[in-house]
Parts: sequence; C-alpha cells; structure tokens
Amino acid sequence: MKDVYEIAVVHGDGIGPEVCGAAVEVVRAALGSDGPLRFTEYPAGAEHFMRTGDSFPASTFQACRDADAILHGAGGIPGVVRADGTEAGLDFTLRLRFELDLYANIRPVRLFKGVTSPLRGVGAGDIDYIILRENSEGLYAARGAGALLRGEVAVDTLVQTRKGIERIVRKGFELARQSKGAPEDGVRRVTCCDKANVLRSYAFFRAVFDEVAADYPDVATEHVLVDAMAMHLVLRPAHFNVIVTENMFGDILSDLAAATVGGMGMAPSAEIGEAKGFFQAAHGSAPDIAGKGIANPYGTILSAAAMLEWLGHKHEDERLSRAADHIRSVTEACLADGLLSADLKGTASTHQIRDAVCERVMRDH
Ligand code: ATP
Ligand code: MG
Repeated sequence: MKDVYEIAVVHGDGIGPEVCGAAVEVVRAALGSDGPLRFTEYPAGAEHFMRTGDSFPASTFQACRDADAILHGAGGIPGVVRADGTEAGLDFTLRLRFELDLYANIRPVRLFKGVTSPLRGVGAGDIDYIILRENSEGLYAARGAGALLRGEVAVDTLVQTRKGIERIVRKGFELARQSKGAPEDGVRRVTCCDKANVLRSYAFFRAVFDEVAADYPDVATEHVLVDAMAMHLVLRPAHFNVIVTENMFGDILSDLAAATVGGMGMAPSAEIGEAKGFFQAAHGSAPDIAGKGIANPYGTILSAAAMLEWLGHKHEDERLSRAADHIRSVTEACLADGLLSADLKGTASTHQIRDAVCERVMRDH
C-alpha cells in the first residue's frame, strides 16, 4: 500500500481528451478529491506532433516509466505520419508496449444489461469472456523492420518465442482461475486460438500452450483455428471464458468481439507487464465524431476501473480494489437504466454520462 499513486495521464487525439477526462473524473469521484491517486497530464500523439514535430516527448516517456500506472485516451489523426512513415498517433502506444514490455493485453468482452447486441437471441450475461492478446511479439513485433524489395515484394516476419508464448499462456490460465467460467456452462476454460494447420509459428504457439496447460489441470482447454473463431464469436459467444492468441489475431478478433457487445465504445483494455500497467479503451481516436461531445466514455471508464483493480492487487490496497468494483457496478446500473450514448442508440452526451456516473458513484458509496 502506498500513500500516493502517480498516474500519468495522456489524453491524446480525437475523442481521447473527452473519454479520458470523463474516466479521470469518475475515479476522482470514487476515491474522493483527497484520495490516494495523483493524476498528472503529459502530452503525446499526432496533434502534439503537428505542433512540435515530436509525437512522444522524452519527458512524457520518463513520466510514464516513473508512474505507477498510465491512463490514455486515444491516439492518431489520419494522414499524420512521421518521417519514417509510421503513424504519429500510434507511436505512443506502440513504444510503451515494446519498451515497457507490456506483454499481456487483456480485453474483456461483456454484454451489459441495457445494451443491445446485433446478435439475435443474445442477452445480458450471455457474453462474458476475455480476449488475451499477446502484445509484445507475433506479426507486429517486427514493426518497421519489414522489407520492401525493389518496389515489388514486401516481407514481414512473424516471431514467436518460447518465453513469450509461455508467459501469455500462463496469464491466460491465471485469468481463467480468477473468473466465474463461461456463461454457457460455468466451465473455466482457456481456448488457444491459432492457425497451427498452416503456419509453423502458430504450431509452436499451440505446442507451448499444451505444455503449459499441463500445469493447470483444473482448467479446461481447447484449440480453435482463428478463422473458425471469427464464426464462433458470432454464433456461440457464451461458450468462451478466456481466449489466448497471437498479437495480430487478438487485434482483429477484439474489434469483432466489441461489435457483438455494443461497439468499440464498450471495449476496455489493460496492457500489463511484469512491472507496469497501461490502460486505455480498445478503440482509436474516432476522428469522425471528435469534438462533437457524443463519444462513448464507458470503455475508458472500465479501463480506469481495471487500472484500480490492477494497482489494488499489486499494492495490496483494498481501497483501490473496492473502488474498481464500485465503478463497475455503477457502470452496470447506469447502462441498465438507459444512460446510453449515440453509438448505443441513446441520446446521452459524453458529459451527461460522465456527470451521471460520477453522481451515482458518490451517492452509492
Ligand atoms: P485504430 O487504428 O486506432 O484502431 P480505427 O481506425 O480502428 O482506430 P476507431 O477510432 O477505433 O478506428 O473507431 C472506429 C469507429 O468506431 C469510429 O470512427 C467511430 O465511429 C466508432 N467509435 C470508436 N470509438 C468510439 C467511442 N468511444 N464512442 C463512439 N463511437 C466510437
Ligand atoms: Mg482499430
């Protein structure tokens, strides 16, 4: 337990400041204005790059390294690229991932009461699983190291290491042990999602998964090929508990999964390493709705709750764990009461959601 936890806050681009600002207010409401979290804002992202030529200042990087946790809105403005051709707004997220070795990207997928799924016959409680995306290697590890030969042939490399697979698979089994199991049958289950029938690297992923699984006889396991997984997430989402998968597959499947529970605005994420934690919604900066005041802040609010849970667990601080649970149950209640943003077919603005959630967080203490 610490007296003060330093939180580095980076609002970023597009709807980033709107959703991140709302999440910070909700955490403040939960812990009181003199609570143990100290939020400090630092610049990074595409807009900062346009103003200064720097997308991720060294001082911001140092602050993120020194902080107890990092909370981010979203990054990116289409077409704003750095001299090396990489997207300026993605620089922050990608460098944090790789340089702080945030290997576990935990993406809970849950259908809340009050939110309509585009899947027929599916209601609240039927979708409740985690996509655990390997975040430090796979097809995205060679970022920038891909080759374009004579303008004719492009090559990227898919890297999977034993160490990298082992640690993400272990995390998957730990998450399953902490969970209630799959909605369909209550079974704690880890699903290995790969393409082992076609690519050597994924066959290795599966082999190491099976080795690690032997240490967790209390958790059920299965293998599902990624193409079949895209189908299963639509046809039988209630079957899944924890899905562990390679970096790019996790990226793609989590957007599909988000769509089944109300869209990108409902998708939180936590990126965790041995020492550090980085929290942001799974969506991008949504430039099409930026500045209109209609962005859905729930994904970022739930990401901030995940931050409190992670800090509370790490530092054995009950205050933070309780605040995380409280924010989650208030979020659940607000959604069930119809406090919905435009993407959820509602009429509430970002500010209205922020204020209503904060008020209820303080009232129901
Ligand atoms: P990235 O490359 O960072 O993943 P992206 O191009 O995939 O970004 P997003 O920014 O994630 O795109 O958003 C896709 C669309 O989903 C947006 O254009 C927007 O309409 C919608 N969207 C995303 N996040 C939200 C939100 N919080 N509230 C409402 N709509 C959202
Ligand atoms: Mg995306």
